[in-house]
Amino acid sequence: MAGEASDAAACRQAGAAVSDIPHLSVTQLKTYVHCPLQYFLRYVCHLKVPPGSEVTLGRAVHGAIGDNYRQKIASARDLPFSDVADIFSTRWEAEAKEAAFEKDEKPGEIKDQGVQLLKTYFDEVAPHVQPLEVEREFLVNLRTTKHPVKGYIDLIDSQGNIIDHKTTKRSYPQDAAEKDLQLTAYAMAYRAMHGRPENGVRLDVMVRNKQPKIQQLNGRRSESQIGRFIRLAEQLENGISSGVFYPNESYLCSGCGYEGMCEKW
Ligand code: SF4
Repeated sequence: MAGEASDAAACRQAGAAVSDIPHLSVTQLKTYVHCPLQYFLRYVCHLKVPPGSEVTLGRAVHGAIGDNYRQKIASARDLPFSDVADIFSTRWEAEAKEAAFEKDEKPGEIKDQGVQLLKTYFDEVAPHVQPLEVEREFLVNLRTTKHPVKGYIDLIDSQGNIIDHKTTKRSYPQDAAEKDLQLTAYAMAYRAMHGRPENGVRLDVMVRNKQPKIQQLNGRRSESQIGRFIRLAEQLENGISSGVFYPNESYLCSGCGYEGMCEKW
């Protein structure tokens, strides 16, 4: 960790170039909103920290859901759940090799929770979804930013709904889909790509309680919310390009991974 801390200091002293970013990634903008210093360490200094259990589980669950929906575009049928569980297991094993688990965490138990979460999702949600596009990449030029905005939409269904999948330990607030920054960016991208508004936006939240639970949280996006996102992207680009990076301590620090470097900042 000491070496990593001096890497961060060297990166800061060198005034790492931030003007040569190819695009504004939605994930990266969200990181900057949450903590500009974490953005700096991760995306400017390129200092890697191993993902924790939450990220590892989320990647494996996303992979299994994505593989199912990709084939369902043509087949209109979900894979047998045993196939979904196999895809999840293979992805989990690959992701878990790179992960840093807490001392009190048992990777095998988390993997089992992942299977239970997926089972609940495939019982309650997947049969009612007909996908149109899966992990749709977009690159949208905004008039007011120097860089285009890039991202990936988890799922667009046949009714024109934008759906983002989340795995979490705690339930989301009921109005989470009304405010989510990523969903606003996806609605902006959808309108740019399709020339019309989306039908709606939705978070499908998989909560890993003892009893797995799925929350389907619906929302809508107005033109003024889209305009507000575009203005936010402009300001974030200004902050990044000007080298404005500072720690923003919050409840998100517990899963950060850069605490040691942050303390030495
Ligand atoms: S520990 Fe908290 S304040 Fe420090 S970099 Fe991470 S998220 Fe930011």
